Amino acid sequence: MTAQLIDGNALSKQIRAEVAQRAAALTAKGIKPGLAVVLVGDNPASAVYVRNKIKACEDYGLRSVFEKYEASLDESALLARIAALNADPSIHGILVQMPLPAHIDAHKVIEAISPAKDVDGYSVLSAGETLTGLPGFRPCTPYGCMKLIESTGVSLKGKHAVVIGRSNTVGKPMALLLLQANATVTICHSATPDLGVYTRQADIVVAAVGRRNVLTAEMVKPGAIVIDVGMNRNDEGKLCGDVDFAGVQPVVGWITPVPGGVGPMTITMLLVNTLESAERVAAANV
Ligand code: NAP
Repeated sequence: MTAQLIDGNALSKQIRAEVAQRAAALTAKGIKPGLAVVLVGDNPASAVYVRNKIKACEDYGLRSVFEKYEASLDESALLARIAALNADPSIHGILVQMPLPAHIDAHKVIEAISPAKDVDGYSVLSAGETLTGLPGFRPCTPYGCMKLIESTGVSLKGKHAVVIGRSNTVGKPMALLLLQANATVTICHSATPDLGVYTRQADIVVAAVGRRNVLTAEMVKPGAIVIDVGMNRNDEGKLCGDVDFAGVQPVVGWITPVPGGVGPMTITMLLVNTLESAERVAAANV
């Protein structure tokens, strides 16, 4: 058996086309969905992420506002900018690119974003909404992973899902979304003694670690769905995931490639969250 590829580029294209249609309908009513992207400092990876997010907005009919600041920016000045963006009715989503310089308290900044504009879904309130299943913004990467899993047509009900990684932005919300979809969920992390014991039982594995070859062929169940969130560089400097793709693909049923799997979906779900934020404003204005 060779796994079917779960094509994040193709699924993204489909969802982004729907976003463009809904954004155009909203714009025709006088509300153009607007995303503010705030970058502090000169982290080269952050600059690339930010550029891709802004380009995606432009390509699919959303307005983007880019605010770039020197790494020396005061925390208070950043908080003042967030307050201004919170008050700006043309802005429906605010994204502060992480990581922030060490002198700025990232938690304080995230909590300063109005809950109605927290399209990254990183605030404590958004985390609580994800935990309780209330409507709200789901963090973009796990939200995108759920869409990739849904695209296989496999029901999660009664399945065993194993999430490797427990970060607040990926692993934990991922586990909660899988739980809400009626999977039985196991979370593994750096203190899990033998990962394979868990992953070999898994119908779905989501690897969100940031280390190459965390998941290898002898650690997966035949036919499983494997979602690779990791972004690493191999010895040749090429982008690769956490999964030993060449080894695992012949064993499992479905697998996401890196690149072209989770990556494009993360930006896509940011567009979806921003659009939905604007749609809520439009609905409240009726
Ligand atoms: P993170 O905050 O560093 O968390 C990594 C998690 O992996 C931690 O929970 C850690 O456990 C666990 N871990 C580390 N070594 C392990 C091991 N040997 N076995 C099992 N678990 C282990 O990273 P993150 O922000 O969640 O991101 C994870 C990866 O996804 C990174 O490569 C990141 O670049 C990538 N990413 C990709 C996208 C995308 O759009 N494609 C978006 C976000 C993140 P402890 O908690 O015990 O330390």
